[in-house]
Amino acid sequence: MEFSYWERASFLGNTKYCVLGAGIVGLSTAFHLAKKLPGKDILVVEKSPFSGGGSTKNAGFACFGSPTEVLSDLELMGEAACSELIQLRYKGLHLLRETLGDENIEYSACGGLELFSQVDKIKSKRNYETVLEALPKLNNFMLNALDEHHIYEALDDPAGVYGLKSIEGGINNRLEGSINTGKMMRSLIKKVEDAGVRIVRGMELLSFEDKSEGVHLHFDFGKLNCDKLFICTNSMSRSILPDADIMPGRNMVMVTSPISELKLKGTFHMSEGYLYFRNIGDRLLIGGGRHWAGEEENTLEHGSNPNIKKNLIELLEKQLLVDIPFQIEHEWSGFLGLGKSKMPILKKVSKNTYCGIRMGGMGVAIGSEIGKQLSALFLKE
Ligand SMILES: Cc1cc2nc3c(=O)[nH]c(=O)nc-3n(C[C@H](O)[C@H](O)[C@H](O)COP(=O)(O)OP(=O)(O)OC[C@H]3O[C@@H](n4cnc5c(N)ncnc54)[C@H](O)[C@@H]3O)c2cc1C
Repeated sequence: MEFSYWERASFLGNTKYCVLGAGIVGLSTAFHLAKKLPGKDILVVEKSPFSGGGSTKNAGFACFGSPTEVLSDLELMGEAACSELIQLRYKGLHLLRETLGDENIEYSACGGLELFSQVDKIKSKRNYETVLEALPKLNNFMLNALDEHHIYEALDDPAGVYGLKSIEGGINNRLEGSINTGKMMRSLIKKVEDAGVRIVRGMELLSFEDKSEGVHLHFDFGKLNCDKLFICTNSMSRSILPDADIMPGRNMVMVTSPISELKLKGTFHMSEGYLYFRNIGDRLLIGGGRHWAGEEENTLEHGSNPNIKKNLIELLEKQLLVDIPFQIEHEWSGFLGLGKSKMPILKKVSKNTYCGIRMGGMGVAIGSEIGKQLSALFLKE
């Protein structure tokens, strides 16, 4: 199929800069390019009606690290890299809030409470006691990384406060919060369009050739040329960047029916961030559980793993909403971009092509900063 004269003239334009992927990273990249290059032709191309990966499917945690996740990252990455990653997330969250405005994204500074379960199926090697012991050291690490004092604090009797069972303790991160994911993405799209960027949906890039004169793009609907290409396709990048260290990690989310007198208000994590739940008004959203599965979750197929779903429902029934009637009214899946390292890949791929991918589990936090840095990487040339 070929594009019509009208489609080329009015929708695709004389594309100078093409951003692939209309998630947080792609839209942020386009926004920062447009800010520095007003009047230039910038086109965002997206294959899905909303976001095919994570940006309209996530849980809306404005988070940068629960205690067990940071302890695990410290062990895995070492202090310097872990500090750099946390700074990126923290900066990204501030940039997102500053760019879109707290009201427009329904930001709530509710904090983020990590709960320690006595019965998690794959028990984390870090239990409440060992994390409590490590807390002064952890707070000191965060002080050095973010210049913020006493970020983590133990909460007295979380089981009593929230009506939970088999929970041995809770540690709060006072600087975390929540957003309304749908409103955040709508505001971001508006911001980008107001800056003069065009967004075309329903076209998938199949391949590209980076030539000295520019980039030839082969879409399922036709061909297009651009001067510069910015690849922001996160979990789905392997098909166009086959050598990139990136793979998908499927994540499922469920939302309950409204629950009168819901006590669980705020954002909550368990088991090194693998489990998460929060309220949306008087409903409870719950998701994650990848630690209960194997490589079968490294897939780009939507759906849910029956074992993960069963365990999440058991967690609701036996620990979080004990004796409280509820139904699951919404259920969906999305994809994380994962790799050997938790650091995003931000680089020039070839002469006219750049990429910002591998956002891990905290792309809400990191995404806007990576978009800004990706545009800066090109602009500084
Ligand atoms: C269930 C779930 C819950 C999450 N919860 C949180 C959370 O609470 N807090 C948090 O910080 N992070 C969370 N995340 C992670 C976060 O949502 C992602 O890291 C973030 O959205 C990544 O943004 P992105 O722009 O890099 O990628 P995406 O949002 O995945 O955008 C990439 C886009 O590229 C498009 N695309 C891919 N290939 C092509 C192609 N060939 N042609 C055209 N278009 C293409 C895709 O359709 C997609 O829309 C969650 C993720 C999931 C899946």
